[in-house]
Amino acid sequence: MAATHDTDYRLHGHPGARTRIYKKIIEDTYGPLINLQLKFVDGSKGDIRISTSKAETGTWSVIGTEALNIPPNEPTMHIDYPPDTGNLSANILHEFGHALGLLHEHQHPDRTLEFNIRETYKHFENEYNWGVPRTYHNIFKKADPADVITSPYDQQSIMHYAMNDKLLWKQPSTGANYVLSENDKTFLPTLYPHYNGRPRERPQTPR
Ligand SMILES: [Zn+2]
Repeated sequence: MAATHDTDYRLHGHPGARTRIYKKIIEDTYGPLINLQLKFVDGSKGDIRISTSKAETGTWSVIGTEALNIPPNEPTMHIDYPPDTGNLSANILHEFGHALGLLHEHQHPDRTLEFNIRETYKHFENEYNWGVPRTYHNIFKKADPADVITSPYDQQSIMHYAMNDKLLWKQPSTGANYVLSENDKTFLPTLYPHYNGRPRERPQTPR
């Protein structure tokens, strides 16, 4: 589990160190769950390109194979570094979840949250400078069950935002999630299954 305090990471600012940090966080958590060979490299080439540029704001990622449609000179993910909000390792896990094709859990077709819509729009505008369309797209809009594979709705998922009780109608706040939930850990292997429970051996020569 990679629930390390993020101030440790701020000591390491240069890009090579960042690559090692991301590699460690992702390999320790997602690595054993998915049958994908991940190779981490410095520089700007790769299927998933992580930016920490100050010119970009926010922390975001495109979803899954959409990354293949992004021009090769553009990032497919951006991580605020050091983070303005949240915990660095939790942000990396959340955004890498998107890169693996996961959507927001609070947009699950079966979510049980009832939002105070006016307060929620106000909150995301004040805290993140999000306009109405962005808040709708990232918070309220539920995934269409015809478009997604789901496991049961899980408020502990790394893909679920913390929603405080001011944003909800007479419901307790959902907690902030820093690590993969038990359900995240059982769901991911069903999306990227191992062969007989073990990584499939790669052929030695291309074919
Ligand atoms: Zn997200």
